[in-house]
Amino acid sequence: MADADAGSDPFAAGIQTVHFEIDAMPGATPIGASSSPTGEPWALLEVNVNALLEGAPRNVELPTSEADIGPLADAGVEDFDADALVALADEHRDTPAQSDLARFHVLFVDGYYLEDGVRNEAVLGVSLGDTGIIAMFAPVIGTGALSRFVEQTTLVHEFGHAAGLVDNGVDMVDPHLDAEHGHHCDNRSCVMYWLNEGPTDLREYVTQYVTSGDTVLFDAACLADANAASP
Ligand SMILES: [Zn+2]
Ligand SMILES: [Zn+2]
Repeated sequence: MADADAGSDPFAAGIQTVHFEIDAMPGATPIGASSSPTGEPWALLEVNVNALLEGAPRNVELPTSEADIGPLADAGVEDFDADALVALADEHRDTPAQSDLARFHVLFVDGYYLEDGVRNEAVLGVSLGDTGIIAMFAPVIGTGALSRFVEQTTLVHEFGHAAGLVDNGVDMVDPHLDAEHGHHCDNRSCVMYWLNEGPTDLREYVTQYVTSGDTVLFDAACLADANAASP
């Protein structure tokens, strides 16, 4: 379970609200921030957060309009390692800590993930340990027809990690960890499958599985883990 002090464990006893603070750099505004003919912005994320928290229902607070997206200063660089992302979050976080609040801070950056000193242009998003910080890499998400679903599905995946999936703080009910690929699910049709963190496979995945804004993308194994973690 994530460190309760970090305030990002949605399953912790006493949590009533799961709050998403979403900030974006110029040029990296989330696609979900604009109204869309396919439904409510953030609906896919909201449906999936609620599905994961079914055993411990919380109020889920998401932006309701573009005005709710906070500004993120252009960092003047294109590569962001974990330390740079934490610093960026510290500088821009507006949501005060509260004992009944699980906070997630989503940073939409106009740049790429810097992994071990090397730019990785195949990483759509990252969840930084139990900090509740999620970074989204806008140039990798892109602007094509499927990008709205790629963006929302990446957020669902990263929220899954931040919440403790797979075997990342939330214990498994039945074994389904893809041990070769970190904290991922071994089911290709689950959003927590490892290749669903890269743009090529995720595009294929959203084509196959994301049919509407209210599709639950976690498989039964991941949902069972979440349910067992609920107080
Ligand atoms: Zn992942
Ligand atoms: Zn799964």
